[in-house]
Amino acid sequence: DGLISQIAAGEVIERPASVLKELLENSIDAGATEITVNIAQGGLKLIRVTDNGSGIPAEELPLALTRHATSKIASQEDLHSITSLGFRGEGLASIASVSYLSLISHQPAGKHAWEIRSEGTRLMSPEPSSHMAGTTVEVRDLFFNLPARRKFLKTEATEFAHCEEVFRRMALSHADITFTLRHNGNLRSHWQAAEAAERIGAVLGEEFSGAATWMDEQSAGIGLQGMLALPAYSRATRDMQYFFVNGRFIRDKLITHALREAYRDVLHLDRHAAFVLYLAIDPEQVDVNVHPTKTEVRFREARAIHQFIYHGVSKALALPRS
Ligand code: ADP
Ligand code: MG
Repeated sequence: DGLISQIAAGEVIERPASVLKELLENSIDAGATEITVNIAQGGLKLIRVTDNGSGIPAEELPLALTRHATSKIASQEDLHSITSLGFRGEGLASIASVSYLSLISHQPAGKHAWEIRSEGTRLMSPEPSSHMAGTTVEVRDLFFNLPARRKFLKTEATEFAHCEEVFRRMALSHADITFTLRHNGNLRSHWQAAEAAERIGAVLGEEFSGAATWMDEQSAGIGLQGMLALPAYSRATRDMQYFFVNGRFIRDKLITHALREAYRDVLHLDRHAAFVLYLAIDPEQVDVNVHPTKTEVRFREARAIHQFIYHGVSKALALPRS
């Protein structure tokens, strides 16, 4: 299904940053505690992600590159309580169909590592290889077989900036994982596993975390934690608005609205809300089963969530500070 898989890939894989997002999600789902990313030429030349996660059994390597093969959803019922970041089983297959891909994996129980390679839609047989316990996925020459799409890519610097933003979001939502990023061989970020507040400071800088207040609101099984910038923080060039639902980056009208209202009502600030917030909620109360590239969610109890966020954030912003 060469052509079909390339068309499908186009919907999910737009640019190097989309590849990086899929690979990082897989490493996180595999329970990695350490993830290292190497990028060359903005990701157009190379994107390599190495993790120390659970690995893939040798006999499942070809399956991992096959469309709709996922190890993460066992039943239709599971679809309503998704806790993994991936679940459609199309990420790797999509990437593979538009690049030169190598997947090397070593399960802790296995004697040695195995590697499987693909060139576009052509899949090779697995071969013995060497690798520590975990997985490395290497993606070269993205869209080599789709020149029209390759033309839509921007400069190396712009594509790398998109990759960096994806990397930041993952690092912000998984503080307990050590992350390293290199671009063209140069070390760009190295963040040791830490508490959430410390990670936020490392990723967004003292300028942000030093002028922010920590909030923690729990009610009826829902939790909202994170940092809210105070007026002393004048937002720099980047848009510092990070909201995660169960570890997934979300940009959602309902949430944005609740936050904007709270900042306006309490601090009389119209535009300069800046925050990193983590919402923890029963997976059954939220539908993440929208398109993979979208960052929206659907809450079962949308009104209640809006109120919870508005009140929690208002309360934290109104607290007297020393
Ligand atoms: P999905 O993440 O939706 O399941 P993918 O195409 O991204 O689908 O990955 C296919 C399968 O390959 C996963 O379900 C998982 O079993 C395996 N896999 C991919 N990457 C890794 C990794 N880094 N570590 C362990 N297993 C992985
Ligand atoms: Mg995946």
